[in-house]
Amino acid sequence: MQVLKFGGTSVGSPERMRRVGELIDDGLPKIVVLSAVSGTTNKLVELSELIRKQQIEVASIKLAALREEYRLFVAELLPTSPFQEKGQAIVKGIFDETEQLLWLNRFESRHEKWILAQGEVISTQLFQLYLEYKERPSALISALDFMRIDEHGEPDLDWIQQRLDLLLSQQHPLATYFITQGYICRNASDEVDNLQRGGSDYSATLIGAAIRATEIQIWTDIDGIHNNDPRIVENTWPIRQVSYREAAELAYFGAKILHPTCVIPAEDRQVPIVLKNTFEPQAHGTLISSASSNRTITAIAAKDGITAIKIQSGRMLHAYGFLRRVFEVFEQYRTPIDMITTSEVSVSLTIDSDNHLPEIIRALEVFGEVSVDKDQSIICIVGDALSAHTEVTKHIFTALESIPLRMVSYGGSSNNISILVSRDAKNAALRSLHKHLFQNTNTTLSVNF
Ligand code: ADP
Ligand code: ASP
Ligand code: MG
Repeated sequence: MQVLKFGGTSVGSPERMRRVGELIDDGLPKIVVLSAVSGTTNKLVELSELIRKQQIEVASIKLAALREEYRLFVAELLPTSPFQEKGQAIVKGIFDETEQLLWLNRFESRHEKWILAQGEVISTQLFQLYLEYKERPSALISALDFMRIDEHGEPDLDWIQQRLDLLLSQQHPLATYFITQGYICRNASDEVDNLQRGGSDYSATLIGAAIRATEIQIWTDIDGIHNNDPRIVENTWPIRQVSYREAAELAYFGAKILHPTCVIPAEDRQVPIVLKNTFEPQAHGTLISSASSNRTITAIAAKDGITAIKIQSGRMLHAYGFLRRVFEVFEQYRTPIDMITTSEVSVSLTIDSDNHLPEIIRALEVFGEVSVDKDQSIICIVGDALSAHTEVTKHIFTALESIPLRMVSYGGSSNNISILVSRDAKNAALRSLHKHLFQNTNTTLSVNF
């Protein structure tokens, strides 16, 4: 069985949704994972913030505007009766329920998460109704019945696998296409929760791993992973094939096309991922598999919102156990470290979550002088055998010669060289690296795709 995931722009209009209906309809059994219609989750985030701040009048106006958008969406997607009425009833049901949350005395985080889930709930219900209207053999299965995270926010793959096996084998014997929501799940308290923004990719790979799918296809609005961020750099191009390791590094270090951790379940169970463009289905796209790319440099990505912390202490000199005590602080506050560099008297490291920064700083001050730089970006250069090619570093440092570098991490893995720069310098750094690593014909690193 295959798993096909379609992102927000791929279901972003009635016309696009109809197109998805055609793309999946080859008669082969599959699970189809849908995101919310593009823009909806952002609007639901905004709505929740307004309710939290008790700006109920504005929230009410915004909610009415979104309801009207969906009323028009249904009218265009399902022009004939009785499907039109059924579609409008779905919209009415979801929006009436959401509206009730505006008037709660206590608006809690569980209410907010329920609201955020409604984008995927509505897109899948409307798509399933459309498939019924087209008389396709499909069934809607709710992600809330099988997708689950534990008390640390980690997906519970055993549970997902057991529940999916049961749902697929015992229900809907006549269905060929199973439609479900990306992004949404239940948490350890059984509340509605989510897999973080962009999480539909993660839903797809978790489902693909759980059912040991033959392939996971992620359909989006671009023809695969590009060799640099196309929103910032001109003349980027798609990569035909990458290894799981390279793709995981790119996703984790900011390539927005993939959710940061979505490659891991697919890699664990060796299920290939194919990235495809809904607007250009014939384009090759990108294949992510265990095959090595054999490419010196594959792509560059960048991750914003990074905080660098430096701890300076004479006690580090010739000491052992110092780093362990530093790491224990981050463990205590469940804050992952991305980069680390050390000298004899100081250690610098980066985190991407400031949730516990004040507590972390207080705990680290016991060891020495602590300084913090916010608004940093990690630039990540990903390839297959980076350290085997001595000329790589020369080209990287030449490209960045006019940009102040806060940290450099080299040799941690042969797939990745990471550089920390101030957020303000990121765009210039990405563009200059692109020119030197991919466009300079004198560079022996120029790559074949
Ligand atoms: P979806 O809604 O389908 O999940 P996303 O917006 O999350 O789509 O991801 C696709 C977008 O990711 C592209 O439109 C592109 O602008 C952006 N992007 C950032 N970095 C890359 C990259 N290296 N390769 C391809 N796309 C990238
Ligand atoms: N709808 C969610 C978001 O916008 C999840 C996703 O699209 O992957 O973040
Ligand atoms: Mg996405």
